Amino acid sequence: MSVDHSGFSTQAIHVGNEPDRITGDIIPPVHIASTFVMDGVGILRAGYDYGRGTNPTRDAYQVTLGALEGGEAVAFPAGLSAEDTLLRVLSRPGDHLTFSSDVYGGTYRLFTRIHAAEGRKWSEVDAGDLDAVEQDLAANRPRVLWVETPSNPLLDVYDIAALAQLAHAYGALLVVDNTFASPYLQRPLALGADAVIHSTTKYIGGHSDLVGGAAIVASNLVVPEGIEPWTDNGLVSEELVLLQTATGAIPSPEDSYKATRGLKTLAVRVDRQSRSALEIADFLEVDPRVKTVNYPGLPSHRGHQLALSQMSGGFGGVLSFTVATPEDAIRVCESTQTFSLAVSLGAVESLIEYPATMTHGTKEGSATAVDPSLVRLSVGLEDVEDLIADLDRALG
Ligand SMILES: *Cc1c(COP(=O)(O)O)cnc(C)c1O
Repeated sequence: MSVDHSGFSTQAIHVGNEPDRITGDIIPPVHIASTFVMDGVGILRAGYDYGRGTNPTRDAYQVTLGALEGGEAVAFPAGLSAEDTLLRVLSRPGDHLTFSSDVYGGTYRLFTRIHAAEGRKWSEVDAGDLDAVEQDLAANRPRVLWVETPSNPLLDVYDIAALAQLAHAYGALLVVDNTFASPYLQRPLALGADAVIHSTTKYIGGHSDLVGGAAIVASNLVVPEGIEPWTDNGLVSEELVLLQTATGAIPSPEDSYKATRGLKTLAVRVDRQSRSALEIADFLEVDPRVKTVNYPGLPSHRGHQLALSQMSGGFGGVLSFTVATPEDAIRVCESTQTFSLAVSLGAVESLIEYPATMTHGTKEGSATAVDPSLVRLSVGLEDVEDLIADLDRALG
C-alpha cells in the first residue's frame, strides 16, 4: 500500500489553521498565556484553564499533525519525551520491550538504562529478519515491538505491514519511529502500525530552531489487556494527554507554532531534499573514492523494492557512504564547507557527520557498532551542484 498524497499540503496548510474569528489574522495568533480567565468558578470560556493542561496553539498543531499521519497526535517537548510517555502508557515495569537493533542511540539508552532500571525487560532484534522477529516475539511476549524505517545510519527499510501482522499475532503493538520519512513519504498507521513517533526537531520543524517530539496513535487504540488504565476509557490518545499533564511534558507555544509552520512546507522541502539526495547518491555510487552508498532510492540498495511499496513521493534526504579508511571518513567530515559538521538532520542546512563516534558513539565496541569508515549526510535545500562540488572537494 502506498501513501495517498492527495491533499497533503492542502491539509498541512489549512487543517487546524483557521483564520482568527475576531481579527481575521490569516495565521492564528500564538497563545503564550500560562493561565486563562474564567467566566465563573469552574466556568471555562473556551475550554482552557492552565497552560500545562492544554493550550490553543498546541491543540491546533496536534490537529494538523494528526490529520497528516492519520491518527490522534500528542505533542511533546522532545522526541525522547514522546517516546518515554508512550512507553509508560503501553507497558508497566515487569513487561518486555523488543526493539530493532539499529534504533536511534537515545532510544536505545531510554530502553536499556532508564526503563530497564524501572524493571522493564528488553531485547534487540534485526527487524529485517522476520524469522528472528517471530522467535523474539514468541520467546519474550513483548508489549511493544519498536522499529525505525528507514533506519539510521544504514537506511535499512523494514516491512511495516508484515511487522504489524507479526506483532499482533503475538499480542504486541507495533510502534514505528517515522522521523526519517516524515508523514509526507510514509504513513505507518495506514500500513497497520499502532503508534508513530516523531522527533519533530528534524523534518517537521525543518529549520534547526526547535527541539520537539510527537506521538500519533490510532484513534481507537486502547491500552493492552492486563494494564490498569489511568483514564476511564483506556484510550491511548487520552492516556498520553493525561500523563503529559500529570508530568508536565509539554512543548512550548512558540515551539508548537514553529512546528506548525514547518508542516506547511514539509512536502516541498522533502520533495527537494529527496531529489537532491538521489543526485548525490548517484554521484557517490560511481565515484572510485567511495566504497558503498546507502540510500533507499538507489536500485542497488537492498531495501529499494520495499521502499517503493511502502513509501511514496521520494526516499528522504538522509544517506550514508563508506570510504577507504576511518581516517578518510574523518577527513571528509572535517573538510566540507557547505555541509556543516553537526549531528541532527532534516533541516534546510545540509549536515555531515561521523556516526561511529558522533550519533552512534554509544554503540562503539559493541556487536552493533557502526563501520568506522562510514559518513552520514543530511541533504538540505542548497543548490545540489554546490553540494556535489563540496563533496567532490572534500573527498580529495
Ligand atoms: C533525533 C531522533 C530522536 C530523538 O528526538 P529528540 O527530538 O532529539 O528528543 C528519535 N528518533 C530518531 C530517529 C531521531 O533522529
